[in-house]
Amino acid sequence: MNDVTGGDGSELRALMARVPSVERVLASAVFEPLIADYGRTQTLAMLRATLDAWRAGAQAGHASVDALTDTMLGHAVSLRLAKHAQSRVRSVFNLTGTVLHTNLGRALLPDEAVRAVADALTRPANLEFDLDTGARGDRDDLINDLICELTGAEAATVVNNNAAAVLLTLSALAPRKEVVVSRGELVEIGGAFRIPDIMNRAGAKLREVGTTNRTHLKDYEEAINARTALLMKVHCSNYAMSGFTKEVTTAELAPLARERGVSVAVDLGSGTLVDLTQWGLPREATVRETIEAGADLVTFSGDKLLGGPQAGLIVGRKELIAKIKKHPLKRALRVGKLTLAALEAVLRLYRSPETLQTRLTTLRLLTRPADCMRLAAERIRPALQRMTGDAFVVATEPMFSQIGSGALPVDVLPSYGLTVRLASGKRAGGQLNRIEKKLRGLPRPVIGRIADGALWLDLRCLEEADEAAFIAQLQGEDA
Ligand SMILES: *Cc1c(COP(=O)(O)O)cnc(C)c1O
Repeated sequence: MNDVTGGDGSELRALMARVPSVERVLASAVFEPLIADYGRTQTLAMLRATLDAWRAGAQAGHASVDALTDTMLGHAVSLRLAKHAQSRVRSVFNLTGTVLHTNLGRALLPDEAVRAVADALTRPANLEFDLDTGARGDRDDLINDLICELTGAEAATVVNNNAAAVLLTLSALAPRKEVVVSRGELVEIGGAFRIPDIMNRAGAKLREVGTTNRTHLKDYEEAINARTALLMKVHCSNYAMSGFTKEVTTAELAPLARERGVSVAVDLGSGTLVDLTQWGLPREATVRETIEAGADLVTFSGDKLLGGPQAGLIVGRKELIAKIKKHPLKRALRVGKLTLAALEAVLRLYRSPETLQTRLTTLRLLTRPADCMRLAAERIRPALQRMTGDAFVVATEPMFSQIGSGALPVDVLPSYGLTVRLASGKRAGGQLNRIEKKLRGLPRPVIGRIADGALWLDLRCLEEADEAAFIAQLQGEDA
């Protein structure tokens, strides 16, 4: 370190005079491969940025005067270029134990969907073109029949996500009208999606009924008046109530709504299309059951238990769906061809329930036997132990995965994975944070979670096809 800030500043001026011309540096041999890889424009920009940083450092008195060689600049610029070129959307390993992790992109799509999206990306498609008549078509028509077949609904429309589905439904069906909701269902889903706020945005008037823990049919009955548009039920997704509780079911609400000439809308959230108990998973009402129970409209996500792309599906009575589709917000919230292509491919898998468990990635992950994860943990353990070093103990342990995305919050799935603890047995959080950060800093970041004095790496979402790359990365080889 040289102190260049002292005196009359002549030293600093002398130092600055030593900064080489960018033209000369760019012409040096060190820069030839960089220009070949990244082009002259980017290389020049990064060289300028490197020199600016050096000047700022010199002014602050940090710069080492002799270090400004072509080799040093080549190295610094090459690091900047590599970092700049790295995609900001990165693949990671999700070892959090949460299968549908909202922050990690929720459902992973099956190959069928990937192929359909690739086709839609690279070839023109009949997105809004009726191939039978040659006339203009409606993009919802591409999957309307399939959704109806799978849910028993009369009609369907698709928007960008379920939050949009709820917003659109309320905007189209209840502007300046009342929507009756139980106080036990005025939930916040996360990411600032709160039922009372959405209601406001949609211009609907929330009519709360019942209490937090108990709502009765007569509460709805007494709330209905000439301004009532909808009775709405909201799936409590991410929280559960137990004890002295009472909820009015869709099947109980439907006859009342019919009698009083209003509609029942159900925001199912996760929206599963099949009975999950056949695979030993917890019970969740299906969209078909909800329609059969008498819901006039059901909204649900495409990328939660359904296992498809981010989307919001609205299904139900034909005349209500038609009204929703005519609302100007529908145009603003509509999905693109990539979403439709992926969604159709995923929905098609549901036509063969026998193969769904192996072909639908989400379901395959949720139903993976704990033994698979236990054996994987044993195979991976040595590499992780070598990476963490003797100060830590890496162990194979049973743990519990979660479904995630607010689906069935109290149910957990038995799993296996690796834990990293301090060999001394102490609960030194800082040391574990260091390992967690190191894993997160790998070329394909590994995301686990720290709890109870250990780093937990649940192996449910590390499928066998990815295991070799995972181990290679721990061993410092390119993943
Ligand atoms: C998840 C969820 C939403 C929001 O769905 P997104 O697809 O994330 O927009 C709305 N309502 C319920 C009940 C949910 O569980």
